[in-house]
Amino acid sequence: MSQTKIEFLGGLDTIGGNIISLQKNDYQVIMDFGAFVGADIKQLLDRSLTEKFLEKSLLPKVEGLYSQSQLNSNSLTSFEASSLNTAICLSHLHLDHLGSLGQISKQVPVYTSEKALNFYKNLVENSFLPKYDVNWQGVPYPTIIQHGPFKITFKESDHDTEGASAIFIETNDLKVVHSGDLRLSGYNPQRVLKWVEEAHSFEPDLLLIEGTSFSNFGDDPAPLLTIEEKIHNLSCSNERQLLKTIDQLMSEKLKDIITINLYPQNIQRLLEINEIAKNNQRKFVLDKAYYQLLENFFSKRIDNIFYLSEETEKTSFSVSAEELKNSPNDYILLIDYERHQVLYQLPAGVYLHSNGVPLGSFMAGYEEFLTNMVEYGWDFYQAGVSGHASQSDLLMIAYAIQPKVVIPWHTFKPKAFGQELETKGLNVFYPQYGQIYTMDKILEGNNA
Ligand SMILES: [Zn+2]
Ligand SMILES: [Zn+2]
Repeated sequence: MSQTKIEFLGGLDTIGGNIISLQKNDYQVIMDFGAFVGADIKQLLDRSLTEKFLEKSLLPKVEGLYSQSQLNSNSLTSFEASSLNTAICLSHLHLDHLGSLGQISKQVPVYTSEKALNFYKNLVENSFLPKYDVNWQGVPYPTIIQHGPFKITFKESDHDTEGASAIFIETNDLKVVHSGDLRLSGYNPQRVLKWVEEAHSFEPDLLLIEGTSFSNFGDDPAPLLTIEEKIHNLSCSNERQLLKTIDQLMSEKLKDIITINLYPQNIQRLLEINEIAKNNQRKFVLDKAYYQLLENFFSKRIDNIFYLSEETEKTSFSVSAEELKNSPNDYILLIDYERHQVLYQLPAGVYLHSNGVPLGSFMAGYEEFLTNMVEYGWDFYQAGVSGHASQSDLLMIAYAIQPKVVIPWHTFKPKAFGQELETKGLNVFYPQYGQIYTMDKILEGNNA
């Protein structure tokens, strides 16, 4: 019987777009299907552009995935013409993991955790993520799905989005653990520890592990922009420390309004900050899209949460800019970059930049935004926490799992990450694009 074939299709030395195909008999499983660096997220929704993306290597060349109507060359076998039965498994809802879904045949099943799928639908409804017209399949934890010879299990993990999973997959000759993106510094590190222990018992041949935090390994810290010298940095390494620091700030800045720019998928942080706000007698006023997201996702009104109203609108759960202006110390306001102009109508107070857009100097508008905010008088704090595990946590996780072989990916520095993994006594393999591997071939390469 032939061995499971393994092909790497993206993300070996970059953050995101990490895609792998596993094939056995007439079945194929693809794990994650994110946008490649350089591909436009909106254009990726247009199925008439598939050939263009393929030509520019902005989509992986995979058999059995794209519809005949999207392909005009004979280079790739379409979904309809292929004998392969393909399914996609999705670890979580970040664009670098799902951003290319708008290109696949609508019939290919896309499995993700049921929790992630519910959250996804709410994010789409409130325009926080694009709508991918595909064959979605929500999988409750810890259901095992069978796809031909593949047995697939989603394991609840912790990342800065809801429903993030590690994925275990096995055939009769191969066991793979796909870590997804993860951290031990979030609200639920115990979920990660649980699946890590299960991964150890699973005795995987391959561990595919993300290495985001190794991306700057050995580099000097990036020099600060002049404007960045005028802002504060809370420098928190985990979510709990961030909450404590924000609580302290609220108890010190009794006269000021507090404003915050959060990452919409980190809905847990929003809820936790609401608890702090409540204890500090502040109402939490949200941008309306966030208010609706919260209400829809939890199917109920959440105590102490209000929304920022337009001038003419008045309900018992709305707060106007005028009201914020009149008693700023009664509120914390969540506002995202798109609608941040309202900040220039308020008396300046504390502004917390908490993993919202713009993320850093690599994004357009960042420097100008900081400059305008500081000049207006806002006390600007960097108040983010990474969604990714620290270097030492990644090494500990891989060490605890003890796979036969580790493949470091989802990092700009797979070699640096790999060398550190080797110091833990682990076997590291660096795959290449355009090669079809089997586990035997990987072990040979590993011993060579
Ligand atoms: Zn990622
Ligand atoms: Zn992610």
